[in-house]
Amino acid sequence: MTIRVLEDDVIARIAAGEVVERPASVVRELIDNALDAQASRIDIRVEAGGHRLVEVSDDGQGIPAADLELAFQRHATSKLWSVDDLSQIQTLGFRGEALASIAAVSRLRIRSRSRDEQTGCTLLFEDGEIVERGSHGSTPGTWVTVENLFHNVPARQKFLRTPLTERRQITLLVSRYALVRPQVRFTLTLDDQENFRSSGNGNLAEAMAAVLGRDVAREMLRVRTPVKSADSIQVGGFVSAPALHRSDRSRILLFVNGRHVQDASLSFAVIQAYHTLLMKGRFPIAVLMINLPPDQLDVNVHPAKAEVRFQRPREVFGALQRAVRTTLLEAEGTSVSLARNPIIHGAPDNDTLSGAWQDMETAVRQPMFASDHGPDADVTDLPAAPQRPRSLPMLRVIGQVGASFIVAEGPAGMYLIDQQAAHERILYEQFLEQREREESMTQLTLAGETLDLPASEASLIVTRQEQLRAIGLELEPFGPKTFLIRSIPAMLATIEPREVVRGVIEELEKGLNPGEDTLERRLMRRVCKQAAVRAGTVLSREQMQGLVRQLERTKSPLTCPHGRPTLLHMSAGQLAREFGRHQGT
Ligand code: ADP
Ligand code: MG
Repeated sequence: MTIRVLEDDVIARIAAGEVVERPASVVRELIDNALDAQASRIDIRVEAGGHRLVEVSDDGQGIPAADLELAFQRHATSKLWSVDDLSQIQTLGFRGEALASIAAVSRLRIRSRSRDEQTGCTLLFEDGEIVERGSHGSTPGTWVTVENLFHNVPARQKFLRTPLTERRQITLLVSRYALVRPQVRFTLTLDDQENFRSSGNGNLAEAMAAVLGRDVAREMLRVRTPVKSADSIQVGGFVSAPALHRSDRSRILLFVNGRHVQDASLSFAVIQAYHTLLMKGRFPIAVLMINLPPDQLDVNVHPAKAEVRFQRPREVFGALQRAVRTTLLEAEGTSVSLARNPIIHGAPDNDTLSGAWQDMETAVRQPMFASDHGPDADVTDLPAAPQRPRSLPMLRVIGQVGASFIVAEGPAGMYLIDQQAAHERILYEQFLEQREREESMTQLTLAGETLDLPASEASLIVTRQEQLRAIGLELEPFGPKTFLIRSIPAMLATIEPREVVRGVIEELEKGLNPGEDTLERRLMRRVCKQAAVRAGTVLSREQMQGLVRQLERTKSPLTCPHGRPTLLHMSAGQLAREFGRHQGT
């Protein structure tokens, strides 16, 4: 084999792949540049998820005409002079690679005018070569359009994700910038429709409302570094009150020295701060800014700058955790809204807490029931399916254990039934039957509460209208990111409508796993879970008997829709063995 040095354009395309891996990374690099140029307004336009077009324009300081060509040379930067500077980086960019990389794999047009000059310059690149030069007289700032991204890198094109995924990625990206730079006005236009806008008035709380939705923002607590702290590590931002939580950690947003970072250990520090305040498997929402002297941080770990390395990781972890924990404990002392979420002092045992939590949930929900049959009178009122043969033997209810499990007896021994799992199964099969008869879910019509959502969630709702309607949830667009909740699934009548929608959005965000049936079924399982009688709810004998009767007639009585067991069976023989009563003794 002959060894050869690669041609320049091949080198350029290989290197480009490290910096710009997908359309969202082009958007990121161009925004970084605009921010480094002190822009106060950044407008982003994207078509077909960036595959067709990415355009970013800013009102920053611009590039002097004499430097414009140089800016497109690899390792050309105005932000770094010496190796020493590397330990003092204050700008987002410093490697001088982005413009060169993007130009190498697209058709790129740039128009820039320096604040100090009367006219500006334009250049058009095709596959990294200049094909057109010109001048123009517009306002100071920079304007870049990128078309046909990766058209000359067939290998990369094969791996590009769908425009829908990319749109979502870009929306999330721009929202994160809006949080970390509330003093900059961002607009994002996707396929000619405005998708996101921040005010740029410098107010983080307002930026957060634009990104997370006003309802969520209202329940966030402000984090401040304790005044006493002499530490050089500063933490600020917002975290969710314990009443507000999610099923994943995707809303824990962390920024270090103005840069978004994904760092499992820092996220964990935040989660740990909620220890005993959140149920297992639930995660907080957080927008946290960590600031530390630049020399304690290495941002030059990754070409796309997604990772950072700390000189004193443990101190950063500790500072973050302390700041969040202090905020939560202070809020506990002052906030009324926390009253419904008990924080149990000195309760080290998580299980005790989640039990208490569930009791509280029941207590909060109880007054909403009009009848005095107890919280789940509907269990007995549900239409049974007498035409279907029993899939379990006839069971006689003996009693309830821990307000969570029903003890029953049948011809073959003892049964211990998980009331929540069993009810989920019953509700889920009712739904499947309704679908089979092509009936839509029974729904509860509401006067129309409004709900304000972040752009990413709003677009999910818009694209999934049909599936939502199938489960009885109608959301009517009411302004760009506001919806009227027209109806919710009837079985969720006792749950706050906004909470219903939140649960459904969480499910939508997860998307479908390979091998999973349909999104509609996934949503329905979630609804059933929300609707089912909770563990920790005391049931009357009639309610228990009703629940068991219905379980007996389900098609798959042994598991809940999520696959967990609904009952444990102990045969008469097993019982005898356990007690050492062998035959004849
Ligand atoms: P880096 O940002 O790492 O310096 P880039 O390739 O992204 O490298 O940009 C090269 C140079 O071009 C920058 O250092 C900066 O001087 C100039 N530049 C790029 N984009 C802009 C912009 N939007 N406004 C002003 N100057 C810019
Ligand atoms: Mg740059």
